[in-house]
Amino acid sequence: MSASAVRDIVVVGGGTAGWMAAAAFVRVLGESCSVRLVESEAIGTVGVGEATVPHIKAFNNLLQIDEADFVRNTQGTFKLGIQFVDWLREGTTYVHGFGTEIGRNLGLLPFHHYWTKAYQRGRARSIGCYSLNTLAAERGRFMVSADDAPAGSPLSNIAYAYHFDAALYARYLRAYAERRGARRTEGLVREVLLDSGSGHVTALRLESGEEIGGDLFIDCSGFRGLLIGEALGTSYEDFSHWLPCDRAWAVPSGNVGSPTPYTRSTARAAGWQWRIPLQNRTGNGYVYCSRHVSDDEAAATLLANLDGPALGDPRPLRFNTGRRSSCWQRNVIALGLSSGFMEPLESTSIHLIQSGISKLLEMFPREGFNPVLARKYNARLAFEFDRIRDFLVLHYYANRRDEPFWKECRHIAITPELREKLELFQDSGQVYRNGEEMFGDVSWIEVMLGQGVMPAGYHPLVDLVPEADVFRFVEGVGKTISNCVDVMPTHQQFIDRFCLAP
Ligand code: FAD
Repeated sequence: MSASAVRDIVVVGGGTAGWMAAAAFVRVLGESCSVRLVESEAIGTVGVGEATVPHIKAFNNLLQIDEADFVRNTQGTFKLGIQFVDWLREGTTYVHGFGTEIGRNLGLLPFHHYWTKAYQRGRARSIGCYSLNTLAAERGRFMVSADDAPAGSPLSNIAYAYHFDAALYARYLRAYAERRGARRTEGLVREVLLDSGSGHVTALRLESGEEIGGDLFIDCSGFRGLLIGEALGTSYEDFSHWLPCDRAWAVPSGNVGSPTPYTRSTARAAGWQWRIPLQNRTGNGYVYCSRHVSDDEAAATLLANLDGPALGDPRPLRFNTGRRSSCWQRNVIALGLSSGFMEPLESTSIHLIQSGISKLLEMFPREGFNPVLARKYNARLAFEFDRIRDFLVLHYYANRRDEPFWKECRHIAITPELREKLELFQDSGQVYRNGEEMFGDVSWIEVMLGQGVMPAGYHPLVDLVPEADVFRFVEGVGKTISNCVDVMPTHQQFIDRFCLAP
């Protein structure tokens, strides 16, 4: 263990990861540590990353960010879930709606067990008709939880996330961090200096010749992994045999109609297209597998499938899906793209940044670098990455599309953990969250059902309830959910009211 206490933190990179880290450090560590961030405008940021998951609200709460101010300043909209179009096969649609409950749980059992029995008897509609998030998304409605809703009402606990402009988000966090003492240095890092004994990073040498020393270095330098990869040689575990997409085109388009309260993901011949509605524009992109479609064809497909006029030329992005074998190496911790990347199918990258930051703060090496801390941190992060990867693979593996890319995906060698989840659900409709897995039961159930994975059975306790009562219960839940959605304002009405200047 290194005896030196951590006082000076240096963050390399001023994209979403860098400024999220700097903002959290100044907020939580206060004056006990100095925070300095180095970034190079000449290199710039990746500039995408506009859809999030509900966990981000905990991050904003930690920073005590005012929600309306945040949404206003980032051109933000609200997100109830993700709509998957044509993923099972052409013509199919389902929503992965956020939340911890579908319908209403009864007694010991989650709702979907009752639903399964009713559905098998032809007495229930698709599961989305019993989900507040799905129904509200489909009807273009949104509101935050109602303070005056009776306890137990679906309106008392609405799960949601945001869409926002990535550049505005980084700018917002930069202003936050600088106001609280973070120091920013504009400059290009040319060299990373290492201690000859410990191998720890001691300083960064900038193009200007300036040297910036520190105790703890946070690598937020993007895909290249300037510190974690190039300087420390930490290996990268490749996931492309599970997730074969390796490129994307991204382009904004003008809004047509009011923004939807969900992200849309539409399956295409060799990948999928995202659509992320902001207040002032729409973000679009085509994530694809370069073995199955040329770059030109992929760009043409994207441009041919925009709702509104393109606002510029499409931008190419290349990525190598996987993660660092260790995100914490010596006195360097990688966050964001330098720590690994998985395609934005379930908007998990910003969440992984947040998760890395909160775990680091929880395990902060204030008195020096005990290798046990790094080992535990790395194991927790790897577990989270790997379980998210399995969840993404599920979307591809369980498809019935005809194109060669999709046929290939049906033969992905899935992990034992994913196989276990699939078999248990197919057998008896049961789902169990493992440890610190990010996605909960509702997410797995919605995506499995959406991808055509139907349970053969349901929990035996359901049969203790008279059949007519089960049908009545399921129907009643559907009506309650539908009535609740009817009293919600439209997404646009909500934004207009919520974002009024103070
Ligand atoms: P970057 O934005 O690349 O920032 C790197 C920083 O390092 C820059 O400031 C750069 O100047 C600096 N830098 C690099 N080298 C040097 C140097 N030598 N000297 C000084 N500074 C240097 N995530 C989501 O959560 N939701 C999404 O919807 C989503 N969509 C995505 C779509 C695509 C196609 C891709 C590729 C990613 C997407 N992501 C998404 C991921 C998301 O974009 C990133 O996780 C997020 O932007 C964080 O990026 P970053 O800060 O790690 O890196």
